Amino acid sequence: MSTMVSSRLESSRRRGPAFDVAVVGGGMVGAAAALALARAGFATALVEARAPAPWFASDDVDLRVVGLAPSSIALLHDLGVWTSIRTLRASPYGHMHVWDAASGTTIHFDAADEGRDLLGYIVENNLVQWQLWQALDAAGVHRLCPAQVSGYEVLEDRVQLSLRGADTDAVSARLLVAADGAASPLRAMAGIETKGRDYAQRGVVAHVQTEYPHQGTAWQRFLDTGPLALLPLADGRSSIVWSLPDDEAQRVLALDDEGFFRELGVASDFRLGRIVGATARAAFPLRLQLAETYQAERFVLLGDAAHAVHPLAGQGVNLGLRDVAELRDTLVDARDAGRDIAATHVLRRYARRRRSADTLDALGFDALARVYGWQVSPLVAARGLGVRLVDKLSPIKRKLATHAAGL
Ligand SMILES: Cc1cc2nc3c(=O)[nH]c(=O)nc-3n(C[C@H](O)[C@H](O)[C@H](O)COP(=O)(O)OP(=O)(O)OC[C@H]3O[C@@H](n4cnc5c(N)ncnc54)[C@H](O)[C@@H]3O)c2cc1C
Repeated sequence: MSTMVSSRLESSRRRGPAFDVAVVGGGMVGAAAALALARAGFATALVEARAPAPWFASDDVDLRVVGLAPSSIALLHDLGVWTSIRTLRASPYGHMHVWDAASGTTIHFDAADEGRDLLGYIVENNLVQWQLWQALDAAGVHRLCPAQVSGYEVLEDRVQLSLRGADTDAVSARLLVAADGAASPLRAMAGIETKGRDYAQRGVVAHVQTEYPHQGTAWQRFLDTGPLALLPLADGRSSIVWSLPDDEAQRVLALDDEGFFRELGVASDFRLGRIVGATARAAFPLRLQLAETYQAERFVLLGDAAHAVHPLAGQGVNLGLRDVAELRDTLVDARDAGRDIAATHVLRRYARRRRSADTLDALGFDALARVYGWQVSPLVAARGLGVRLVDKLSPIKRKLATHAAGL
C-alpha cells in the first residue's frame, strides 16, 4: 500500500480510505478504467469480488476470447499493456467474410482496402484482464480484492461505500464508477432501470481445428437459427461463437464429438473444410440490455453494466473500452478546468456522449440480428439485394469498417 494511501487511511479511519474515484468491478473494462484514471493522476481504488486467475502461456487458449478493434488496441497501448498482450498471445486478422445461408450473398472486408495492415486482434479475456491487473500497483491503484460492495450512500462531497469481505469495511470517493458487469448490483442500488430483450439464445463457444487454414480471416455465416462466427487463433485453430436458440444450444452442448463436428461442419458450410478437433464447449446467454441512463449522483456506469449487446458484431468490450477513454478525458478536462469531477454537468458529458453512441451501435446490432432472422422469401431477397449493394458501394463499406474499428 502506498504512503499516500496509508496516510489517507489514518486521517479518515471512520469513513475508510478516501479516493478521487472508486471503480467497482475489475473485469477488462473496470481494470482498464482504474488504470487509465490512476495514470491520469486520480487517486483510484478498484473493488473486485474475485481476484482474476493468473494467466500462463502453457495453459490452452481460454474459451472466452474477444475481437479487439483498433480503438481498443490504441487504449491498451496507451495504458502500456498492449505490447505484452500481443507478444504473449494475440491473433491478428486482416479480413472478415460474412455470408448469408438463405440468400447466398456475401460481404467481404479487407484491411488493405481501408489502408490498414489489420482489422484487429483476437485475444483471450483473461489475458487482457491479467495484464491490466499486473499494471495496477505501479500506477498506484489501491486494490480491494476480494471485496464486495454491499451498499453505498451519497454524502455532500463524496460517496461512501460499504464493503464485505475486505480488510476495511468502508471506502469513500468523490466519484463511484460501476463496471460490475451486465447484472450490475450497483446499477440496481442506484435505481437505474434497463431496457432491451432476451434473445432466448445462447452463444456456444469452443476452439476448433478445421481441415483447411483460416487464412487470418474472421468468418461469419448467418443461419436461420442465428449467426455462427469462426475467429482465427494464432495456433491455426478457430474460436467459434455459435448463436443458437436456448434448447438448440443445450442439444449442441450435449452432442458427442463426432456429432458436434458434423453439425458444425454443415453450419459453417464446410468453408474451412471438415471440423477435425475441438476443445470442451461452453455457452453464454445472449441479451440486449441498455441502461436508461449512465449517470446518477456522483455515479457513472460503464462497460457491460451500461450496455450488453449481441456478439454478432464482436463489439461488447470495444464499446466498454470506448466508455473508459471518454470517462478519462471528461474527468481530466473537468479537473484541469478546476471543476468537481463528479459534478452533474461534468458526468452528463460522458453519459450523453457514450449513451447515444452505444445506443446507436446496440440497436444497429439488434437490427442486424432481426434482419438476418427474416425467413420469408421476399424479405430474404431484399436482404440479399441490400448486402450486395453494400458490398459493391465502397464508401458505405468503408464507413462500416471505420465505424467497427472505432476510428
Ligand atoms: C459469447 C460471447 C462472445 C463475445 N465476443 C465478443 C467479441 O468478440 N468482442 C467484444 O468486444 N466483446 C465480446 N463479448 C462481450 C465481452 O465479453 C463483454 O463486453 C466484456 O467481457 C464485459 O466486460 P466488463 O468488464 O464490462 O464486465 P465483466 O467482465 O462482467 O466484469 C464485471 C466484474 O465485476 C465484478 N463484480 C460484480 N459485482 C461486484 C460487486 N458487488 N463488488 C465487487 N465486484 C463486483 C465481477 O466479479 C466481475 O469481475 C462477448 C460476449 C459473449 C457472451
